[in-house]
Amino acid sequence: MKRRNFIKNASLTGVGLTVGSAIIGCKEIPSEEKTPIIENKESELTATLPIVIATWNVENSTAKAWEVLQEGKSSLEAIEQGCMIEEANAEGQSVGLGGLPDRDGNVTLDACIMNKEGDYGAVVCMQNIIHPIAVARKVMEDTPHVILAGKGAEQFAVSLGFKRENLLTEASKKAWEEWKKTSEYKPIINIENHDTIGMLAIDKNGDIAGGCTTSGLAYKMAGRVGDSPIIGSGLFIDNEIGGATATGLGEEVLKTVGSFLIVELMRQGKSPQEACEEAIKRIIKKSPNFENFQVGYIAVNKKGETGAYSIHEGFYTTTYQNNENISNAPDFYNKK
Ligand code: ASP
Repeated sequence: MKRRNFIKNASLTGVGLTVGSAIIGCKEIPSEEKTPIIENKESELTATLPIVIATWNVENSTAKAWEVLQEGKSSLEAIEQGCMIEEANAEGQSVGLGGLPDRDGNVTLDACIMNKEGDYGAVVCMQNIIHPIAVARKVMEDTPHVILAGKGAEQFAVSLGFKRENLLTEASKKAWEEWKKTSEYKPIINIENHDTIGMLAIDKNGDIAGGCTTSGLAYKMAGRVGDSPIIGSGLFIDNEIGGATATGLGEEVLKTVGSFLIVELMRQGKSPQEACEEAIKRIIKKSPNFENFQVGYIAVNKKGETGAYSIHEGFYTTTYQNNENISNAPDFYNKK
């Protein structure tokens, strides 16, 4: 079943949603505007540069990143600007503005960015700032540190001129209030309860950068941080080899250091597709209860070959390559 159909059916029947039906992050695209969706063709896309690949249906974000690359700018610049599009999208309920809050009603954001030099910057559990990816870049470039958390991250952002804003939209507030009425607290992720934007880009010079931005697991415990801002888990870049990024239940990605694993597998000679599949199998081996959660990975190697794989059906990627912005439904592990 296509992800959009799954969501539509699930919201009608309640099937499969353990923490409410409003946990949908990506903006619905009117059908006439939708880019073509290709089934399981990730590794068959012709490897040309430049390239942008992202988790989920974020055609507007990949289009922005592509535009930046076409201007001759760096992959790092493309990543920052591409991710900012989805962060500013109030309808997306899992990234930036409009992100679903923690169980106490606070929207807390995690993001990280890596450049071709292997430098890294991140913010974790930051509130009130709409663009965590941009703050993460500033942490990387303007501080001697790699991660700033909570109030410190927010203060740093404000000191740079970022505006404090209320990120809890009416729709997300309503979803949280509904969740409070009907749900027991379960710190697990439903297979559709995620939509982190992980993005990888290679510019015309062949240099790779990546970013990852999220409001994390909806209704998480206060202070919970997932994989997305953690180097090697939610994202890893090695400019000699390639990059990888993750979406899904962060706890599982963290325990297997998924993105680093994928890059290391590519270093050993695996294709991006083989590496993503191996990293998913590593999770399955450790967590036999995989029916209850989803993880999806994407990867790109230095040549611009891509891979994507998830535990369950319903994961999507968007690739901008060869002047085409394409949504892809990658292959997955749990075939019934
Ligand atoms: N990976 C994110 C986290 O665990 C969730 C997601 O992909 O939406 O915080």
